[in-house]
Amino acid sequence: MLGDILIVEDEKAIADTIAYALRTEGFEPHRCELGQAALERVAAGGIRLVILDVGLPDLSGFEVCRRLRTVSNVPVIFLTARAEEVDRIVGLEIGADDYVAKPFSPRELVARVRAILRRLEAAPAPAPLFQVDEDALLVRFKGEALDLTRYEFRLLRTLLAAPERVFTRADLMDRVWSEAEETADRTVDTHVKTLRAKLKAIDPSLDPIRTHRGVGYSIGRFPCA
Ligand code: CA
Repeated sequence: MLGDILIVEDEKAIADTIAYALRTEGFEPHRCELGQAALERVAAGGIRLVILDVGLPDLSGFEVCRRLRTVSNVPVIFLTARAEEVDRIVGLEIGADDYVAKPFSPRELVARVRAILRRLEAAPAPAPLFQVDEDALLVRFKGEALDLTRYEFRLLRTLLAAPERVFTRADLMDRVWSEAEETADRTVDTHVKTLRAKLKAIDPSLDPIRTHRGVGYSIGRFPCA
């Protein structure tokens, strides 16, 4: 198998045609009809490329791509039905790798898939976003060692151990500050703030820690070593 390809398309006939063409050429097609399901499928891992229809019943393909890009670098090829959609893909930086306009030739689409995967293989593999060194109590972010306090290290390690999981402040207190004498909800917020500032100093365009208002915090699913 050349790789797992996710087709996100609510029109069954089109999805059938693409799946058939991919399978014929040695790929393993997977299918979703909704944007939300596609995000979950990519998060589950193993998908090498996403073919994404712009017009989906729940989220627009643009929104799906935007959300994907906060957690994944998986290549995306858009399927578009209208010229103004092409303008958005070409004009805005929404993180698409390519697009094909409907009606399209399945053979041409598969050729684009191959071309993108070939290009990726030729490029050096990007370093994992986070690397945790338990022995050295060190976390590297984009290859750079973060200068963390003991509690910042524990906080980040806790979040990274369960990507996408929302930790309440109480959860984090228990796990990170278990033996501390005096803590308050604000302690968690303060440490998240300083941690964010340190991550931002390395890459201002990424904000991997998410705030869940009134609840707590989570971190995205990243390639982590
Ligand atoms: Ca559609």
